[in-house]
This record gives sequence, C-alpha cells and structure tokens, in this order.
Amino acid sequence: MTTAATNTEAQPHAGRKQRSERPSTLALLVNNRLAAAGLVILGVIVATALAAPILPLADPNATNPAGRLAPLFSEGHILGTDALGRDTLSRLIWGARVSLAVGFSASVIAAVVGSAIGLVAGYAGGRTDQVMMRLIDMLMAFPYILLALAIVAILGPGLINALYAIAIVNVPFFARNIRGITIGLARREFVDAARLSGKGPLRILGSDILPNVLPTIVITLSTTVGWMILETAGLSFLGLGAQPPQADLGSMLGEGRKVLFTAPTISLVPGLMIFLIVMSINLIGDGIRDVLDPRLRSGALARPSFRTAILPDRARPASMIDQAATLDVKNLETQFRMGSEVYRAAGGVDLRIARGECLGLVGESGSGKSVTAMSLMGLVPSPPGVIAGGLIGFKGEDLAEAPDKRIRELRGGAVSHVFQDPLATLHPLFPVGDQLVEAIRAHQRIGRSEAETKAEDLLALVRIPNPAARMKALPHELSGGLRQRVSIAMALANDPELIIADEPTTALDVTVQAQVLRLMDDLRRERDAAVLFITHDFGVVSEICERVAVMYAGRIVETGRTDEILKEPTHPYTRMLIDCVPVMGEPERRLDAVPGRPPPVNRLPPGCAFADRCPRAQADCRSGDIPLEAKRGSLEARCLHPLQPGESLT
Ligand code: ADP
Ligand code: MG
Repeated sequence: MTTAATNTEAQPHAGRKQRSERPSTLALLVNNRLAAAGLVILGVIVATALAAPILPLADPNATNPAGRLAPLFSEGHILGTDALGRDTLSRLIWGARVSLAVGFSASVIAAVVGSAIGLVAGYAGGRTDQVMMRLIDMLMAFPYILLALAIVAILGPGLINALYAIAIVNVPFFARNIRGITIGLARREFVDAARLSGKGPLRILGSDILPNVLPTIVITLSTTVGWMILETAGLSFLGLGAQPPQADLGSMLGEGRKVLFTAPTISLVPGLMIFLIVMSINLIGDGIRDVLDPRLRSGALARPSFRTAILPDRARPASMIDQAATLDVKNLETQFRMGSEVYRAAGGVDLRIARGECLGLVGESGSGKSVTAMSLMGLVPSPPGVIAGGLIGFKGEDLAEAPDKRIRELRGGAVSHVFQDPLATLHPLFPVGDQLVEAIRAHQRIGRSEAETKAEDLLALVRIPNPAARMKALPHELSGGLRQRVSIAMALANDPELIIADEPTTALDVTVQAQVLRLMDDLRRERDAAVLFITHDFGVVSEICERVAVMYAGRIVETGRTDEILKEPTHPYTRMLIDCVPVMGEPERRLDAVPGRPPPVNRLPPGCAFADRCPRAQADCRSGDIPLEAKRGSLEARCLHPLQPGESLT
C-alpha cells in the first residue's frame, strides 16, 4: 500500500551504492539560494580583482587634469573619472583588490592568533587562563574603532599598519569564542581518554580539540570577513589606511566625499562595491554556518515549529478510519526533505491499536520507529520533516486534519509520551514534584495544593518509595530507574488514552528494566490505556505486548499476535531479529546481528527493501510493490517467499 511515487522515484539498483547517502557540504551551500547568490557575486568580484593586472585597464594612478570629473559612460571611462582625472573603473578594480586582500588577511591573522590564544587558555585553565584572558579583557575594554585608531597612530598610517590594527582589534573576539568551547571540550571523556593514551597537551590540542572547534572558527571567520573589510575601508576613509596615490575602496570613498555634491557618483561607485562585497560575504557566512552546524543540518535547531508540516496535497488512503480503535494509522508517510534529497523515514506505515491494547513496534536502529511515533502528535521537527501522506486516526478523528488547538489539547493529555532518556526530557533545574504539578495543571483546572496531592499520588502509583520527600528531588538526584518512573508518572498525569513509549527501558539495566516493564504493564491494565511500545528488543516485546509490528526501512514488514510471531514468524527479517535475543541456558545459540545494513531511506531499492540482506531473496523480490498480506493465523507480512511452519532460514 504505497504511493506510486515510492517506486517510480527510487533509484535503479546499480547506481545506488556509489552515491553518498547525504548531500555534500557544497551541495547544501549551493542549495541555499541566498548563499549561492552571495557566492556568485563574490566570485565575480574576486575573479575580476585577481585578474586586474591582465585586464585592459587604464593606469589607476595616471592623472589627467583636463579630463577630470567625467560622468558615467563617457568615452574611454565607463565609470567616469575622479577629481584628478583618474579612471574610476580601473581604480575600483585595483582598489577592491587591495581591500579584499587586507580584509581577508586581517581576518585570517585574527582567527589564527585569537583561536590559538583561546585554545591554550581554555585547555590550560588556571593561572595561564587568568593571565591570558585579563590581557584580552584589556583589549576589549576600549571602544573598538578607537583602539584601531590608537594602534595606527602608534605604528603610523599605511595599509599594512591598518591591517595589523584591525587584526589585533579582532583577536579578542576569536579568543573569547574559542576559549569558551575549549573549556567545555577539555573536560570531556574523549579528551581524558587521549590523555590516558599518553598524548602530550600539544597533540591533544591539535588532534582532539582543534577539529571540534574548527567549524566554529570557520563560521566566525566567514561572518567577520565582511566586517573587517568595512573596518579597513573605515580607516582608509579617515586617511589612516591606503596612502595616495594607492587606491582602496575606503580611500576612494574619502576622496569622493570632497566632491559629494558636484559628482556624487565618485563616492557612490566604491560605496556600492563595498556594499556588494560585504553583503555577499555575509550571505555566504550565514550559509556556511547553516551547513557546517550538523544540528542545523538535521533541523534540530531550526526555529521550533509547533507542529510537523503537513502537506495539503498529501495522499489520503480511501479507506475509513476505524472508529472503535484508539489509534488507527493508515499509510502514514513522513519524510525529511533536505534540498533535493527526500528521506522516506516512514514510507506508508499502518498501525492499529485497540483500547487497552499494547502494540510493540520493533526494528533495528534507524528503521523509522521514532519518526513514526513522533509523527502522530506532529513532533517531528519541520523543516526538514513533513507529513506527506496518510491518515492518523485517534478514536475516529483524523489528527492530520485537526487544528493546532486540538493537538495542543491532546499532547500530554489524552496522548502522552515516555522517552528513552528521562535525564534529557526532565528539566534539570526544577524538582520533579514541580514538574509533575506543571504537567497536571497544563490540562486540568485545579489549584496548586490539589495538584501537589495528585502529583504525590502519581509518584506513589509508579511505586516510588517515600513520594512526599521525592517531590523535592532534582532529576539528577534520582537513579535512572526512579527517573524513568517519574517520566511514566508524568505520562499518566492526565489519564491518557494512548501512551507512546519510545524505548523507555533501553537505558536501564536489566533488573530495573524488568521492574519498569512490569509497572507499565500493570498501569496499562488498571487504566485501560492503549500503548505504542517502541523497542529494538524482542525480549522486551514478549513481556508486555499483545501484538507486534516489525518495521524495516520505514515500513511495517510483519505484524501479528506476539506469541505467534515469536513462535513462527513468516518474514525472514523477523526471524533474524528474534534470533538475536539471547536465551538462558542456550550458549550455543548464534547471536550475530543481522548481517548487512538497511538501505538508506533516500535511495530505497524497488521491491523489497530487505532483499539485499535476505537469504531467501529471489528475482521477483526486487521489483514492484510488495503488499502487506495475510499469511498464517494472525500474521500479515510483506514477503513473497514467507517462511513456512517449521522451516528454518538457511
Ligand atoms: P529509530 O527506528 O531508530 O527510532 P528514527 O525514526 O529515529 O529511527 O530514524 C529514521 C530515519 O530518519 C533515519 O534514517 C534517520 O537518519 C532519519 N532521521 C531522523 N530524524 C531526522 C531529522 N531530524 N533529520 C533528518 N533525518 C532524520
Ligand atoms: Mg528511535
């Protein structure tokens, strides 16, 4: 049950492997339209400036008093001449060459010196850090341009001195930035490990810390180059940079100022050039920042949208939503769209959970379980995520059609989530009791003391000993198991009808895991809530789920009653996953992971996505859509050559 697009757009099998899975940095940069425009403008300017010696230009310094202040487009002088009769076009190109060179060199000097100071100060810490940072603070204590003026005053006017001045003034900027990041990194485990391996401080700085701060240096650099070109122009404008007759953009502006009213174009032309250079550099800088920061790339830091974008022209299946089921998802398609790449993280998922039922969603890491679960309440970050098709039926209502207000009402109310890492989902600075109270009062109009009583009851309900005292505990003061119990209590706060638990026990040790599982199972039965339980572990599934759905490369490949699937699955992938679960007293059982890797979801092969790893695959597995069909008993599978009862894989 997939849309035709899944197959027609899929790449042919052979071409698939050579291409990389993610778009390259340059491809992403060019995809950002503004950055690409900046790149083109700057490219043209830099190329022209570099080619100045070989271009048929007039001598930029040759004066001609007779032809002074020629207007634009006069013969032989396209951009006219200045007050001394010099060709403006020639001076503009030569001047841009000087300004760019000074601006870039000043930035690179500031970046290298500043980053080195920041790295050493941040890594060494203690007194070294104190001394270096106080010196930097002294530089920062003066107004910026005044300091540059003072430095030029001491060194004497001239382009090179202006370059030094601007580089020095910008050193603190880099030093402060890089020191901050280095301090954080220097205490990380991988740096400890490097120390333990016997590496010296210089090698650690060079090979462990520098690569981690390099993106920041590049980003800071790309966003400051434009600024430094402006500053160079400023100093030259004041007569402290380029000295006559040499042209740079700032000095051209300064000369134009004297005839601003009689011949405004003389200052307009270099002004426009400065504007173009700085603007294009800033656009590229922004683009580089977006591309280099992996979190921005994945969309995690994008402006948080309230809800995943839902395509208005999405494919809707013809069948109706089951009114009786708590959750009835039909052909859900969630995609990540980055540039021209489309990642089909959920490529037509069907799930149905009855009231009070627990459905296990199983699959290898990256198979799309979390994305499916997050799509239900619109929690997938947009961009890059979009819901591109399907129905999300919750008690007969299609949530993909529901207004934002309704979704807000359901979140944490009738539908609640338990995540894998409670330390990441609980607020680190507030006592857990306060957080529970907040969760309760977000959905129920009750007073604070009443909510506190409720919160305490909830903590008792999830079997936390001495709940009254625990109310005041901060998340980090609780053990992993207790923290996960708090998350469960929070999920139960508003009597949910659907609990979505995304690997809630994966981070816990086995005994605590067993306790938490039993607790969830009891609570679900007491409250008759439906549970979508996500895990990659069939052992966990067998303990609490009545039914299982097995996911692979964004689609459900087999589903049915837990006991039947565990006993005799029909899909080879399910069989292999089950074989990965260790069994006490059977040490000879082979426990190798499923060999091979799932296909990247932006280049799914036609036919069965598992065919490449499947020992039973035949030619017909590699073409056409393979539907989810009833096989044996309650089992439905997406397989042309299912396992028969008693049959083994090899
Ligand atoms: P799992 O089954 O382990 O929970 P996920 O649902 O997290 O897997 O991921 C499914 C696919 O979606 C993976 O290929 C992953 O790389 C991709 N993916 C998940 N989140 C994002 C995101 N924010 N941006 C881009 N791709 C993502
Ligand atoms: Mg996950």
